[in-house]
Amino acid sequence: MTNQGDIETGSVQPVTIPRPEHAISRANISSSALKVLYRLKEAGFQSFLVGGGVRDLLLGREPKDFDVGTDATPDEVKELFRNCRLIGRRFRLAHVRFGQDVIEVATFRARHDSEGEDDSAVRAHTEDGRILRDNVYGSLEDDVWRRDFTVNALYYDINDFSVVDYVGGLDDLKAGTLRLIGDPQQRYREDPVRMLRAVRFAAKLGFRIHPDSEAAMFELGHLLSDIPPARLFEEILKLFLGGCAVSTFELLRHYNLFKYLFPLTEDALGWEEHAFPLTFVLRALENTDQRLAEDKPVTPAFLYAALLWEPMRLRARELRDQGASPLEAAQVAGNQVSAEQVQVSSLPKRFSLPMREIWNLQVRLERRRGKAPYRLLEHPRFRAAYDFLLLRAEVGEAEQELADWWTHFQTLNVEERDQMVAPARNKPRRRRRRRRKPVDG
Ligand code: ATP
Ligand code: MG
Repeated sequence: MTNQGDIETGSVQPVTIPRPEHAISRANISSSALKVLYRLKEAGFQSFLVGGGVRDLLLGREPKDFDVGTDATPDEVKELFRNCRLIGRRFRLAHVRFGQDVIEVATFRARHDSEGEDDSAVRAHTEDGRILRDNVYGSLEDDVWRRDFTVNALYYDINDFSVVDYVGGLDDLKAGTLRLIGDPQQRYREDPVRMLRAVRFAAKLGFRIHPDSEAAMFELGHLLSDIPPARLFEEILKLFLGGCAVSTFELLRHYNLFKYLFPLTEDALGWEEHAFPLTFVLRALENTDQRLAEDKPVTPAFLYAALLWEPMRLRARELRDQGASPLEAAQVAGNQVSAEQVQVSSLPKRFSLPMREIWNLQVRLERRRGKAPYRLLEHPRFRAAYDFLLLRAEVGEAEQELADWWTHFQTLNVEERDQMVAPARNKPRRRRRRRRKPVDG
């Protein structure tokens, strides 16, 4: 077991597990990742599979992507691969592309103990300890301590196919424990997004966050307010579109972190009017997980529309009470809620426009007479809006009868549809009585 003192002094001896004693097989590593690993090795560099790839393979899961660690600098990596692009400022990384496949190659980085050294060009912190730039290169032994969780700091060596473990990651993996490397307070301060990563991995792997790593999360959630909106957006997609949205949401709420991602939603959930808000969000997230499990497409627009529906609905209701028409209220409330949310986590226009369309169409779905339903069927966002209505109806927030009407309408031929949208007969039209003009005089 590694303790903090060892980490400070760097006196830790790694445990090396030879090929016959672990379950990682090259057959389970993508051919692109293998190409990168071997080419680096053949050029005389150290070359390891690291991070989630090693973790997931040891757990018998299919890795989402493969990350490679090496002592080659980004420029040296670029020289080796024609299909390589250098990215990032905070961390300089090489992306090697093979068709759809991108292999991320990171140069080993040194630890944060260069006090007194003027390295501001390559490394920078904010006053509260957040890392802004971190490009001091080092050895594998250095690199280990910069990683977030012990289970993410296992290295698979392409040279002899062994797994190298400096931090007790294998034991934690067996025990199902997520443990931050080093002092949790310091590690969360360096990068508060690690709190979100803790939740994401706990939900995805079904792991328990180690009590020390957990305690600091309750205290430091507020640091997430300093994370740039664009980075939070990326994290939100990983959190909610990774197939475990429901358990992720529950853990985020448990650790009081959800409010730093969706403050308006958190407020609305607090209302608990008819328990609709919470039920609706949960139902929408369950639906997202289900779609992913069935390999159906999911979009950030629909996800955001669902997560922000309650604040948007409450705002629209206020506007209607003040005399706005339903459509006008939805449009104005939608713009307001969307503008407030992007201060926290950015939402690119290609998602925020369809999100607001899904909202506006909820009003238009209520019009069932004349040409309106036909126009709606042609709308490029009809399907998403209809799916959204189904979810609302399922939790009792919209009329089931309305949802059923649309379900039925879509199955009919033209004549039958015409019947459905015809103005109701028998009801005599009310004639407006002409007011008699007051006669001057
Ligand atoms: P997955 O790809 O399944 O989401 P992962 O663990 O591979 O999980 P990545 O974001 O791909 O996560 O990062 C690769 C590795 O880089 C991690 O396993 C970890 O070792 C390291 N890492 C990533 N982000 C951080 C961070 N914010 N702080 C410290 N280490 C990090
Ligand atoms: Mg990864």
